[in-house]
Amino acid sequence: MNVYNNWVLISGGFGLIGSNLVKHLYRTTSYNFLIIDDLSSGNKDNLREIISDKKRIITLVKKVENLTSEIINNYSIKISMVFHFASRASPKDFHDHPIDIMMTNSIGTKNMLDIALSYGAHFVFASTSEIYGDPLEHPQDESYKGNVSPIGIRSCYVESKRFSEAMIDAYRRKYNLKTLILRIFNTYGLEFGINDGRVIPNFIFNAIKRQELIIYGDGMQTRSFCHVRDLVKGILEIMMVDDAYGEVFNIGNPQEISIIELAKLVLSITGSESNLTFKEIDVFDPRKRSPNIKKIQSYIDWKPKITLEEGLQEIINNIQ
Ligand code: UDP
Repeated sequence: MNVYNNWVLISGGFGLIGSNLVKHLYRTTSYNFLIIDDLSSGNKDNLREIISDKKRIITLVKKVENLTSEIINNYSIKISMVFHFASRASPKDFHDHPIDIMMTNSIGTKNMLDIALSYGAHFVFASTSEIYGDPLEHPQDESYKGNVSPIGIRSCYVESKRFSEAMIDAYRRKYNLKTLILRIFNTYGLEFGINDGRVIPNFIFNAIKRQELIIYGDGMQTRSFCHVRDLVKGILEIMMVDDAYGEVFNIGNPQEISIIELAKLVLSITGSESNLTFKEIDVFDPRKRSPNIKKIQSYIDWKPKITLEEGLQEIINNIQ
């Protein structure tokens, strides 16, 4: 294949998931990369090992909602894959940057779809378990339609991701675009920034600093955490399967843990004696969340392998 014509356009390429995806594809394929990222939650340092390879990696610091086909055409490259992975995803950002999130996942999604269409490229979208809201079915499979609200702190993320899915489905139906929607459940990894605000980095950084761990509600709400390297392996496999295009897949680790158990696990691994402090929980905070991953497993031979203990230990070792 002509390497010159073999470009990936990825939004959010400096984020937790995007950077791991780029790193892996860089090492295992001949793809070149045009990364668009506004650095709102991503960090260039996440690609420090490969970013200096200017022949294969171009960086555009820009908001995806301001991206146009003309801007991309100026690069004179042929794009065969488009990944729309940009978006702030921390509930902390739902408070602080709701409109930004909605723009990324509405106009931003449309812009990325139009570029994919103009190049006849395949389109892969990082959707989210949030589209199930506070689920009444457990674990959640892809046919579950969700228990969601257009009003509330999390709605900017939930509803704009749902809008994105609907927009992608419309492009698939109207233009026959090859689209792949991945509903990504809670993901964690080394690339979490200190101010990320999600539960794993909060607990780890506070435990190490011997500061209190804040638990919202009674801590009995559950999540299922997938290590980003496991997640990316699954993405890389499913994106190679022709029949997967046009489909929607859950992807994540079904192993479920309550937030209080997670706090205790972090304290035990760090050897910290930080106190647990309980605070009021947001009314829309999902009570339970775990993916049913049977559908993706019927397409690829994949399952998450890194245990939560191993993954947490790796992050803690990296900080200490
Ligand atoms: N949470 C917590 N303490 C924190 C951060 C989060 O108790 O410092 C809880 C939060 O209320 C939620 C769960 O942990 O029930 C997971 O939160 P996170 O922000 O990681 O992501 P979410 O899955 O809610 O999108």
